[in-house]
Amino acid sequence: MNPIQCRRLSLTPILLTLGLAGAATAIATEEGDRIREAMIEVPVEERVFNDHITILSSPWMGGRLPGTPGMEYARDYVIYWYEQAGLEPGMFDAQTGERSWKQAFELGSKTEFRDQSLVVDGTNGEVVFDLGADFEFTGLGGDGEIEGEMVFVGYSIDDGNDDYQSFEEDTDLTGKIAVMLRFEPMDETGNSLWNDRRWSRKSTFASKFGALEKRNPAGVILINPPGADDPRSGELMRGTSKVIDDVPVFMMTPDAGESLAAACDPKGRSLLELRKLADQGTTLVEFEGSVAAAGAIERTPSFAENVLGVLPGRGELKDEYIVIGGHLDHLGMGEFGSRRGSGNLHPGADDNASGAAALMMLGESLRRSYDALPEDMPLRSIMFAAFDAEESGLNGSRYYVDNPPHEIDDVALMINFDMIGRVNEQGLSVTGVDTGEGMREWAQPFFDECGLEIVLKEGMRGGGSDHASFYRKGIPVLFAICADFHDDYHTPDDTPDQIYRTAGVKTVKLFHELALDAAKRPEKFAFGTGDSNSDSGSARAPGPARPRALRVRLGIRSRQLADDAGLEVVNVTADSTADKGGIQPGDIIKKWDKNPMKSRAELVSRLAELSPGDEVQVLVERDGEERIVFLKMLAPK
Ligand SMILES: [Zn+2]
Repeated sequence: MNPIQCRRLSLTPILLTLGLAGAATAIATEEGDRIREAMIEVPVEERVFNDHITILSSPWMGGRLPGTPGMEYARDYVIYWYEQAGLEPGMFDAQTGERSWKQAFELGSKTEFRDQSLVVDGTNGEVVFDLGADFEFTGLGGDGEIEGEMVFVGYSIDDGNDDYQSFEEDTDLTGKIAVMLRFEPMDETGNSLWNDRRWSRKSTFASKFGALEKRNPAGVILINPPGADDPRSGELMRGTSKVIDDVPVFMMTPDAGESLAAACDPKGRSLLELRKLADQGTTLVEFEGSVAAAGAIERTPSFAENVLGVLPGRGELKDEYIVIGGHLDHLGMGEFGSRRGSGNLHPGADDNASGAAALMMLGESLRRSYDALPEDMPLRSIMFAAFDAEESGLNGSRYYVDNPPHEIDDVALMINFDMIGRVNEQGLSVTGVDTGEGMREWAQPFFDECGLEIVLKEGMRGGGSDHASFYRKGIPVLFAICADFHDDYHTPDDTPDQIYRTAGVKTVKLFHELALDAAKRPEKFAFGTGDSNSDSGSARAPGPARPRALRVRLGIRSRQLADDAGLEVVNVTADSTADKGGIQPGDIIKKWDKNPMKSRAELVSRLAELSPGDEVQVLVERDGEERIVFLKMLAPK
C-alpha cells in the first residue's frame, strides 16, 4: 500500500464516527478543516506520539546532529518531558551526591586551523597564495612554520607496477619541502595507468606519505594534478586524520600548482608537463627558489550527552534495571551517513524521533502504573536512555555500557526502539526474543494481544542500533523496528507526515506491557545468544557465529590492522558487492553496521548473518577522511 492510500484509509473511521458517508463524505471533507477534525477525533496517545515526532523533526532541531544547537534543543525537550512524567535524573555523582539528567562523553575533537600562509620565492618572483582559494593547510600532518627549498617528487611511489619508482635509491629530503602530486600515474583520460577502473593501492595517502616519510622531508605540498578523472581533484582537504607525523602538509589546487611550477621550474615547464613526466617514472626535480609556509592546528575535545531519566524501583528488585533506550541523534543536514548527500535537512522523523517519542510516553505511562501498584510490591528500576551519537557508531550506548550509572550486571533487560514510526501492515519487527532463556515464551502472549503483525527476527540480525552494545555485554535485549524497511531511510524524506501514528502507539503500548511485566518478574532472564537453532538451547556465551555457508559475497581481500584499527582493503573484485558499493583498494573498514570492525573473523561472522538484498552501512577511511558507504549484498556467483 502506498502512503497516500493509507492516509485516506486511516481517515475513514473518523469520518464514519462523524456520521458522514458516501458522496457527502468527500464534500464535507473538502469544506471542513481535515487536520482539525482528525486531531479532535484521534485518541490522545496518537496526538502525543504525533507531537513529539513533529517537534523533534522540525527544522528548529536541525536534524539533531551531535554537537549542534539543534541536538541541545532536542535534549532539553526530552528532559522537560521526563520531568513532566515524574522521572528522576538518571545520573548520580557518588562524591557530591548530585543528580543530573545528562551523561556526557567525549566524541572526537573539534579542529581549528589558524595562522595559515604559503609564500613561494621563485626565480621568476614571489607568489603569495590565497588560503581557501589556492591552498589549505591540512590535518594530514603536524603544524608549525617551515622554510626551505622544494623538490618535486612526482607521485611519491615506491615499487609501483612495471618497476615504477618516484625516488632514487639515496634520495634524502632532509630540510626540504616535497612537492607531490595526488593519485598515481595516469593516462590521457586522467585514469590510472595500472588499474582498469579505479586507482590502485599505491595511490593511497598511507602508501604515498609512507614513501615520503622514509626520506625525511621538512614539509609537504600536495597538489591535485591537472587532468585527473576524479571528483576529489576539485576539492581541497582540511579536517582530516593524520597520515604523517610532525610534518606540515599543505594542499594546492591544480591552478595554484601551475603558478608554483611557473615560478620555480628550472626549465619553465608547466605543471601538466611535469605530471606527464611523472606519469612515466622517476621525476625528481630540484625547484629553484624557496617556500615559507605556516599553519597551526588546535584540537579541543567535543562532547556528546546521553539523556537519562530513571523510574525508581522498590523492595528487593530496586537495584536491578530495565533499560529502555532509543537514540535521539540523527544526521543533521546530511553531513554524515546520508544516502543522498549533504545540504538538506534530514528530519529523522522515523529515525529516530519515533523511538524518542516512545521513551517519553513510556516514562509517563510506566510511572503511572508504578504509582497504581501496591507499595510493597518489589519492582525493578527503569532507566529511560535517549542515546546520543548512535548514527556515527553506537557511541552513546557504548559509553553507557562501559560507564553505567549502576552495575552493568544489574540490567535485567534492555529494550531498544529505532524506527517504529513506519510500522504498517508489514508489521513490527522484534529482534532478540532468544537472547534471554524463556523470553520467547514469556513475550508471545503479549505479541498475540497487541493488535500488530509481529515479525520475529532470528538471531541478532539488524544489530546496527544501540541494543548491540548491551548484547555484547551479555544482556538480554528486545529490539523494535518497522518490518518494512523504507527507502526514505537516511534521506531528507524521512518526514513526520509519513508516520503511522496508530501502529506506533500500539507499539508503545505493547512495550509498556512487556516492560511492566519484566519489571515485576522475580527472576532475571538468563542470557542466551539469540540463536534459536543452537543445539544446546539458547544459552551460549556471546561470540562469533558458528561457521556456515555464506549466502552473500562481499568481494574483497583484506588485511587486519594493528591496534584494532580496522581492516585494510587489499583488493576488490570487479562487479562484486564491495565494488558496486564503491569500496576501493586502500580503504580501511572501521565500522560495520555501526559496530567496530576489528578482525577478519568478525567480518566473516557478520557476513554469515546476511542474505542477498540486505543493506549494510559501512564506515571506511579513505585518504584521511571518513565516509559512509552502503552495501547491498549480492549472492555469490
Ligand atoms: Zn536509527
